[in-house]
Amino acid sequence: MLSIWERNHFIHYNHIIVGSGIVGLCTAYYLKMQNPSQSVLVVERGLLPSGASTKNAGFACMGSLSELLADLQTATEEEVLELFLLRKGGLERLQSILGVQEMGYKSNGSFELFFQDDINDLARLSYVNQLLFPHLHQNAFSICNEKIAAFGFEKNTVTGLVRNHCEGEIDTGMMMKNLIAKVLQMGVEIKTGCKVLSFEDTGHEVEVVCKNPIAEQPLIFKTDSFFICNNAFAHPLLPQEDIAPGRGQVLITKPIANLPFKGIFHFDKGYYYFREYNGCVLLGGGRNLDFETETTTDFMLNQKIQDDLMVKLQKIILPRQPFEIDVRWTGIMAFGKSKKPIVKHYSKNVFVGVRMGGMGVAIGSEVAYQLSSIHKNTL
Ligand SMILES: Cc1cc2nc3c(=O)[nH]c(=O)nc-3n(C[C@H](O)[C@H](O)[C@H](O)COP(=O)(O)OP(=O)(O)OC[C@H]3O[C@@H](n4cnc5c(N)ncnc54)[C@H](O)[C@@H]3O)c2cc1C
Repeated sequence: MLSIWERNHFIHYNHIIVGSGIVGLCTAYYLKMQNPSQSVLVVERGLLPSGASTKNAGFACMGSLSELLADLQTATEEEVLELFLLRKGGLERLQSILGVQEMGYKSNGSFELFFQDDINDLARLSYVNQLLFPHLHQNAFSICNEKIAAFGFEKNTVTGLVRNHCEGEIDTGMMMKNLIAKVLQMGVEIKTGCKVLSFEDTGHEVEVVCKNPIAEQPLIFKTDSFFICNNAFAHPLLPQEDIAPGRGQVLITKPIANLPFKGIFHFDKGYYYFREYNGCVLLGGGRNLDFETETTTDFMLNQKIQDDLMVKLQKIILPRQPFEIDVRWTGIMAFGKSKKPIVKHYSKNVFVGVRMGGMGVAIGSEVAYQLSSIHKNTL
């Protein structure tokens, strides 16, 4: 039961966005930029953003050499280039929204480790450099094996090291906090603990049905346009779309004395990634070890993968150093048959920007920009 005051002042918004991850918040940003006087509400089921945007590893990356080569096995050069440029453009866009300092951006270097069984990939380094050169005006990749020992890796384990000259690292928490602060400052409202159960586009408005924590009956918000930006969790709202969740396992060590490296690192086609953060090693990945179990929206740890991450720490990353684990966590990404995100005008007043794969830090702001532009073109 709503009072007249609630009905007249709390229920209707010009735009409602579901999901307070990077895509939802950047969509709010662009809608406000387009029309500052229009009301924008972001609804978030968690008390905190609870998907991938506050759970990732903080890599500002466009694709490692082995990942791009793997993509070129299943997609054309044009398609691989298109995704690479989407990531590049998205990172530039995120920087222009927030500024490098507010993202905690650092360019301590980005490297990829190669082992005996994938060392042949290095023979194709020049080919990938040539493919990207017209867009980067520099070589993206160069071999830097001289750093293998300096970084503390065993030369008989890590047989090749490639530097990526276009990538850096961010402080994910700082970036998200500042993004929230930015949109609040612009007048966007965010309601946390507000889960969207369903929606109906009536043709002249959209009814957004939300779980009401203090009543059995849901609360129905009304909006001129509704934006679905809840990524891996969109399936119940969009059952026809090809969206499958993919869980990512992460851990971080306690501080390690005299850690011999900084920067971000990848190996095995992007399936594993690690970095230095405040003198600790953050390591994530291994989804390819157990794809079936990891196709879930459940945030549980996977013991098999966590054990594998420990082995990778002991054998590859910190071979001569004792370490202790401080925290383990997971985040949920969204995948589909195509690596491309779904960005579209769904019904008269509903717009969809989901399925960011493992690259939503890079492409999230660009997807949000495209979504707000698609909406603008319908007016
Ligand atoms: C471990 C890990 C490592 C990653 N590494 C990288 C990387 O190196 N580079 C890169 O670019 N990207 C990386 N990513 C991916 C990136 O973090 C995601 O693609 C991106 O954060 C997705 O943003 P989003 O806004 O689309 O979705 P999310 O951040 O998942 O936001 C969706 C939000 O919607 C909310 N929600 C869901 N359903 C509802 C509902 N019914 N009602 C209300 N709210 C709802 C959720 O709680 C969530 O907060 C990684 C992700 C993980 C987990």
